[in-house]
Amino acid sequence: MNRRDLLKIAGMAAGEALALPFFESPAAAVADLPQVDIEVRRLKLRHTWTTTMSSSEFRDTVHLRYTRDGVTGFGEGAPIVRYHENAADSEKAVESVRAFLLKVDPWRFSKNCSELFHKLEGQFAAKAAIDIAWMDWICKKLGVPLYRYLGLDSNDTPLTTFSIGIDTPEVTKQKTVEAEAFPILKIKVGLTTDEPTIEAVRSVTRKPLRVDANEGWRDKEEAVRKINWLETQGVEFIEQPMPAAMLEETRWVRERVHIPILADEACLNAAAVPNLVNAYDGVNIKLDKTGGIQEALRTIAVARALKMKTMLGCMVSSSVSVTAAAHLSPLVDYADLDGNLLIANDPFTGVKVEKGKLILPDSPGLGLTPA
Ligand code: MG
Repeated sequence: MNRRDLLKIAGMAAGEALALPFFESPAAAVADLPQVDIEVRRLKLRHTWTTTMSSSEFRDTVHLRYTRDGVTGFGEGAPIVRYHENAADSEKAVESVRAFLLKVDPWRFSKNCSELFHKLEGQFAAKAAIDIAWMDWICKKLGVPLYRYLGLDSNDTPLTTFSIGIDTPEVTKQKTVEAEAFPILKIKVGLTTDEPTIEAVRSVTRKPLRVDANEGWRDKEEAVRKINWLETQGVEFIEQPMPAAMLEETRWVRERVHIPILADEACLNAAAVPNLVNAYDGVNIKLDKTGGIQEALRTIAVARALKMKTMLGCMVSSSVSVTAAAHLSPLVDYADLDGNLLIANDPFTGVKVEKGKLILPDSPGLGLTPA
């Protein structure tokens, strides 16, 4: 059954209801009928965003609105090209489980999540959008913010870094100056301009840096040389220096450097973590990789049990996904939750950042308000 059928059953003029802006809660007129709305949203980047993977002016993410009993939960997932995902396929994946979403009791979200993961192979962005919308809905029904539902203290949020994508030294300098409000920066490297990039940043600030090579270095001796140099530049840790598949080489590198190495592309979800011990010191967890909040919590738990450092990261996405991740951030050592700050057309406001500190909304659910 699709939305139009549901509206017919509810005796409403479908055209009237469909004219509602996507990000507003649908009318209570269909209060007793569950409703699932999906939309691919084009997020415009403030600066061209370049990493070792790609260069882009915009990113498409999939948004989901789950309405039941007069309450609407919002979810979002950013498809990751690295895992062969795109927005059109993510949207199709959500469509393929629409009947399931309309049928299940959202209060059984844990059971539902297990079933969803069996139904959908891969498609982590689609899963994330669904899981986040369920958790927003549950917490709104309970009348508590997500962090409170998880038993966390909003004072414990870490500082977030602000990310600087790969660019010319001049633009890198300008971006670094613009990021003055952030006490820690994350610098993307991994192409041929690593040293000039760091030198450009260092010409305008002495603040701590974290560096992400996005699998850019394929030679283990080169990786050691680069990291040893970064150690002299006030870099706190290095993220994914070598390709995920080069686990033995990364282990070799780790024995020769003095700052922690964190896994990002090498760490999809909880099952990936045990294999990373001894090659990495920590993991970067993203809702778009784990397929939502529930699997992200498991990934954090496994990493912590194995005494690894934990970081919550994000893709370029709106405040829906970034705020969801921010609610989990009191659990982790580091945060890189700035994806919403990189875009010019965020449909919501949610988590805020003050001098780098993540400030969680205190209203029920994710605590989003239309921008
Ligand atoms: Mg990364």
